[in-house]
Order: sequence, then structure tokens, then C-alpha cells
Amino acid sequence: ASVFAGIAQAPEDPILGVTVAFNKDPSPVKVNLGVGAYRTEEGKPLVLNVVRCAEQMLINDPSRYKEYLPITGLAEFNKLSAKLIFGADSPAIQENRVVTVQCLSGTGSLRVGGEFLAKHYHEHTIYIPTPTWGNHPKIFTLAGLTARTYRYYDPATRGLDFNGLVEDLSSAPLGSIVLLHACAHNPTGVDPTVDQWEKIRQLMRSKSLLPFFDSAYQGFASGSLDKDAQPVRMFVADGGELLMAQSYAKNMGLYGERVGALSIVCGSADVAVRVESQLKLVIRPMYSSPPLHGPSVVATILRDSEMFNEWTVELKAMADRIISMRQEYHIYMTSDGRISMAGLNMKNLPHLADAIHAAVTK
Ligand code: PMP
Repeated sequence: ASVFAGIAQAPEDPILGVTVAFNKDPSPVKVNLGVGAYRTEEGKPLVLNVVRCAEQMLINDPSRYKEYLPITGLAEFNKLSAKLIFGADSPAIQENRVVTVQCLSGTGSLRVGGEFLAKHYHEHTIYIPTPTWGNHPKIFTLAGLTARTYRYYDPATRGLDFNGLVEDLSSAPLGSIVLLHACAHNPTGVDPTVDQWEKIRQLMRSKSLLPFFDSAYQGFASGSLDKDAQPVRMFVADGGELLMAQSYAKNMGLYGERVGALSIVCGSADVAVRVESQLKLVIRPMYSSPPLHGPSVVATILRDSEMFNEWTVELKAMADRIISMRQEYHIYMTSDGRISMAGLNMKNLPHLADAIHAAVTK
């Protein structure tokens, strides 16, 4: 007998559960298109060469201990992370208006930011795009916010539903929080143009909507770290406030190291000091302090211009390989991967098979 005997079996996570099923399948031809993790042309996971080098340097450094980090994480990592997303010349950084705390990858950054807002911000509604990464509504709801949606993707044009987005954000209550994918929107891959971002920025500022950027793919959309950060920098340049959740899972391939950062751009330096003090109160009872290895690797790479450059080259190679997989074969299907078997016939079947073959073996 168990006091837990009445517990129901929970469903597998819709994304991570696919990997569980994949790992159980003994077939040599199996393909895992579930989890968002980079794979090489040979289908293998990749540890970047620059990451291997940084790890070697850390291992060989006898002055390194395994002491606890402060609640807010590794200070140098936080500074470099803010610089990476907001730009080296960011006025907000120079004016000490940016607070950055190291968090458990992108997910942890979103959660800490969400709990901070639930405790200290006057409006508890957060607007998330439809569709969005499946974890978003769960993270923010558990953080104490109320998730609502705004229109984002238009299946008819396979593009952005810009009018729907504008309509929905225009009718959001003043001061609502709005979750924005900084680039490489998950799951559609559709991003606003620079012009559209500018209109979104003006609309949001005019209604005092608070931007909460999720940057899980900086460098993956265009191959350039700076280009992918441009929308975020437009919002910082107007002097307004925002939240930023950064992840190094994809762009440095540090998935399992759980390394990320939450930045809050504040209106003034003294507000930033108080915001930081309250972030510590969110983090301390949640996990006390963050891990040491991942941010040490990131800081080693970001502080050294040669290693930084090597990273940008390896990052661009990953981005280019993904971009080249998107080539057109005149095959039309919904973005969720569903195909109508009735659309196939003995004439077009070989073309479909060849196209899928070419796309996955190129
Ligand atoms: N945001 C988005 C849009 C994502 O796609 C992901 C990862 N799939 C994350 C955040 C968080 O990932 P992680 O916690 O591994 O950094």
C-alpha cells in the first residue's frame, strides 16, 4: 500500500516525451524531429570546438574552486550577457539601468521574471502569441500571472498575421505584459520585419505595454548575433523598460548546462538597484543560487575576442545548415507536419520521397 496509490499517471511532456519514445525505438532508421536541439549533417549532437577549448582552460586552472556563486550568479557572465544582447554601446548599460541575474537557462529566466512581475508589477496579464512554445503558458501561470493570447501566425499566408497582432495588442488593457520572441519564433520560424517591429514598438509604448522578450535563438535566425538582436535594441533605444530572458542552450550548444540570464532594463539606476534586491528574494527560496560551470564557459568565450570570433563562425555554420534545410520543393503541407495521404498518388509519390530524401541527406 502507498499513500500515493491514488495518483494518476501524468502524460509525457509533448516535446520531451517524443525523445523518450525515440530512445525506446531500436530501429536504425529512426529520426527525432521533436526536441529543438541542433544536430550535425550526420544527425549527431554537437559540442562546439570553442566550448571544448574553454572547458579545457577551466579544468587546467588550479585557482578554480567549486564555491557557491552569489544568488545572482557570476557577475562577469551577467555583464557580458547584457552586452551580447543589448550591444556593447548600449546607453542603458552605460547608465547602469540594466540588472542582470544568471538563471537556469531560458526557462528559469522566464520563470524568475514571471514571479518578479507577479509580486511587483501592477498588471498580471501576459499576452503570448498563438502559437507559441508550449511551455510559455505553463511557466507564466505557475509564476502567478494570467496568460492570454494575441494573434501571430496566419496559416493562409504562412506568414505573420500583422493586422491580427496589432488589433489584439491595441485592445489589451493598459500596462499588460507582452511576451515577444526576439527572433526565430518558435514554432513558426516567422518573425516581423524591421518595419513591423517598429510599429509594434510604437503601439506598445503608446499603451504602456511591458515587453518581455524571450531570446532563445540569438544568432540562429540570420547567422548574425547583432542582426538577431536588432528588434530588442530598438526597444531599448527608446529609453523604455523591458524584461529579457536569454538562453545559451542553442547558440552555444550548452543545453544541459542550463545557462541563461534574466535582464531587466529599468528607467533609472536607483530603480535597478531595488529591482535587483527583489530578484534575489525571488531566487533564494527557489534554488538559492545558480550553477557555476556553464556561465564560466560562456564568460571564458565572451571575454576573449579570439574565442568570441571562433564562436561566431561556429554559430553561423549551425545557422547556415538549418537555413539550407528550408529549400522549396513545391510541396505544400501544414507547418505542424501533417500531410493528407489522399493528396498522394503513384505519380507524385516518388517526387515527395525524393524531396524528403534530398532535404535530409544534403
Ligand atoms: N523559449 C523558447 C521560445 C524556446 O524554444 C526554448 C527552448 N525550446 C526556451 C525558451 C527555453 O529553453 P532552455 O530553458 O533550454 O534555455
